[in-house]
Amino acid sequence: MNTQPTIQLSDAKHALHKWLSLAVALLAFFFSILNMVFLNQPNIAVIEGLFCILNIYLFSTARRSKPLPWQTNILLFSFTFTTIFAFYTADLRAGSIYWLLLLPPIFCILTNPKKGFICTVLVSFPILFILLMKSDTDSYIPYRSSLNFTVAYYLSYIICYFYESQYLKHNLLLNKMAFEDSLTRLQNRHALKLFFESHNQTDSKDTAQNKVETWLLIIDIDHFKKINDQFGHDVGDAVLMKAAEVLKSHVNDQHVYRIGGEEFLVILDDKTSTQAYQFAESIRECIEQSSFAVNKHPIKLTVSIGIDRFKKGQDFNDFLCHADKNLYSAKNLGRNTVHYTAPKGKAEQPKTLEYERS
Ligand code: GH3
Ligand code: MG
Ligand code: MG
Repeated sequence: MNTQPTIQLSDAKHALHKWLSLAVALLAFFFSILNMVFLNQPNIAVIEGLFCILNIYLFSTARRSKPLPWQTNILLFSFTFTTIFAFYTADLRAGSIYWLLLLPPIFCILTNPKKGFICTVLVSFPILFILLMKSDTDSYIPYRSSLNFTVAYYLSYIICYFYESQYLKHNLLLNKMAFEDSLTRLQNRHALKLFFESHNQTDSKDTAQNKVETWLLIIDIDHFKKINDQFGHDVGDAVLMKAAEVLKSHVNDQHVYRIGGEEFLVILDDKTSTQAYQFAESIRECIEQSSFAVNKHPIKLTVSIGIDRFKKGQDFNDFLCHADKNLYSAKNLGRNTVHYTAPKGKAEQPKTLEYERS
């Protein structure tokens, strides 16, 4: 499961896919009628008609959800095929060659700069071959027109490449600013909200049979205010950073978030309730045994942990509310403890609960 916030703040690919498929459907419809009725080219008209239907389908699916890679590939293939086919069959003087200059930017944006470059190069061979074949007016005109076309064709890719790579860089930076906590470098509350949204959309496994589920461990540092009061806010910040590092290295590839001042959250995937409880216990012990010394102040920490099962369809704010209650119970049990409330009607309790510390 990937819980990293990979959403781009403004999804240009999706928008381009959607509006390009609509624009192409309309153009294909127009040219199909033109070729059929006025230009007497039924073969091109049929291809354009099919292209129109395909793009209406792509547009309608893109309106509902993000396009899948195969849908983008179909859009690219059909657009490339039809423009080259029109260029091949139509008279060179009709100017269908101009459509081919749209290909490099579309490849670059709809795939990525690297794949876009490969497509641009591969597609340039049949185009140049057709161009040389068709422009046979005199001995050197074909080479001049081919050279002009090649320069314009590759320039359109290069301009788009620079724009797209800058855009991706900025997007990465914005993603970082939006989804990363600036103090601890952990993912923040927005990223967690995103996880909720994406996880709610994924197909659930047969958890009844496997008894494995997704668990959320809410970790709150005990008496953190005292550290600030005793050593100052700077030391408090340094302790939070160290606590984040300890959590990150203990938790390995599981996802760790900072959801509030001294509150963290770990997502555990594919675990039984007993495994989740044992893992929470191991985090509690790890923090208890670690040293958080800052500026020679010997600081020890303990944490209270509430365990919550991820419930599909659960609202993010409802979850936070429930998590707070769970954590409150852990605090009431005397802090430095793990607390798990089994959902009503669920008989299974973590086996280690009976060893719960007080
Ligand atoms: P409890 O065991 O009940 O959780 O007690 P606590 O002191 O940890 O909890 P409380 O909610 O009373 O206080 C949390 C403190 O965390 C208060 C606030 O000053 C501190 N805090 C929140 N964010 C930051 C931060 O970014 N840096 C520092 N240094 N302190 C922070
Ligand atoms: Mg707190
Ligand atoms: Mg606290």
